[in-house]
Amino acid sequence: MADWKNPPRLFIPGPVEVKKDVLMQLARPTLGHRGKEYAQLHSETIDMLKKVLFTNQHVFLVTSSASGMWEAAIRNCVGFDETVLCTMCGAFSDKWADVAKKCGRKVEEMKVEWGKPTLAKDIDKKLASGKFAAVTLVYNETSTGLMNPVQEISDMLKKKYPDVLVFVDCVSAMVGLPMKFDELGWDVAFASVQKAFAIPPGLTIAAVSGRAVEKSKTVPGRGYYFDFQEFVKSNEKSQTPTTPAIPHIMAVNYQCTKLLKEGMENVWKRHKAMGDCTRAWAKDRFGLFCEEQYASNTLTTVKNTRGIVVGDVIKAVQQKHNTAFGNGYKDLKEKTFRIAHMGDITIDEVKELLGWIDAELK
Ligand SMILES: *Cc1c(COP(=O)(O)O)cnc(C)c1O
Repeated sequence: MADWKNPPRLFIPGPVEVKKDVLMQLARPTLGHRGKEYAQLHSETIDMLKKVLFTNQHVFLVTSSASGMWEAAIRNCVGFDETVLCTMCGAFSDKWADVAKKCGRKVEEMKVEWGKPTLAKDIDKKLASGKFAAVTLVYNETSTGLMNPVQEISDMLKKKYPDVLVFVDCVSAMVGLPMKFDELGWDVAFASVQKAFAIPPGLTIAAVSGRAVEKSKTVPGRGYYFDFQEFVKSNEKSQTPTTPAIPHIMAVNYQCTKLLKEGMENVWKRHKAMGDCTRAWAKDRFGLFCEEQYASNTLTTVKNTRGIVVGDVIKAVQQKHNTAFGNGYKDLKEKTFRIAHMGDITIDEVKELLGWIDAELK
């Protein structure tokens, strides 16, 4: 019987397991969002996030899920007379193209088969036409468990198309995978906190470049809730335009303190170690859905080469151990399954879960 007060431990690719010490941060006394205490929390948190994201530009605390930033990037930075190139390699990148169209922008789609990466050379071919103002990209495609080669793509964009704005969905990548915002030359990068930040859902962190903020001044119809100009003005007072999810910001503050103490390079290495361990298991028992060089370090999509009934194994592990992992996404259901290894999940916990799955395979 489902019991929301005693839920399974989560190894699904978001929301992920949140540890007790982090949960406690959300139970602190609330602050007035126009008071000095909030301003202190806000500025401290932004300062730490700038270090975590390797940026000296803008960081916004946005009270919405990450999908809000899909819309925000488009509505703030792409004019109605401009065209955005939307790269698509899975459910989330596909959705972003849809969102851009729903915002009334001109969109050109660049699709690859699910499980295949988006490559610099293909983006290069598209952009050579000179008609694009911006490009959308997903760093880590959570539906397929694939990391796009964002370093190569960014190097190419910086060199050949310095005027094209670069928007990157980093939802299941931020703090799990290497990311230095300023060096990469990105304009908007964002993640909701229920993925590798390992905080309950309700807040999104966004890094925004100075030039994206400048561009937004010239774009009409930015709307109200996600207007970059409002976020910049409020940030100057260490505030947000509307009442933010203050408990979540307290948790971000706590998590950033831990991340900086560990050191981001070590955080990324820790995620890679969990990826290596899960991939080794997957290759031995099944197969990997993505080519290994693109297989994600924050979640593994396992190809169901043995034809097991994934739903039954998930159910059995949940019943015996009150722990949940993910079936494949949509069309990939039963053909694949997904194990998240991001945030505060430890490698020992991952190994424990893999052992339980092994027990079901016998
Ligand atoms: C989870 C996820 C999203 C959606 O984020 P929400 O916070 O649910 O809006 C978008 N993109 C990627 C890559 C994701 O993993």
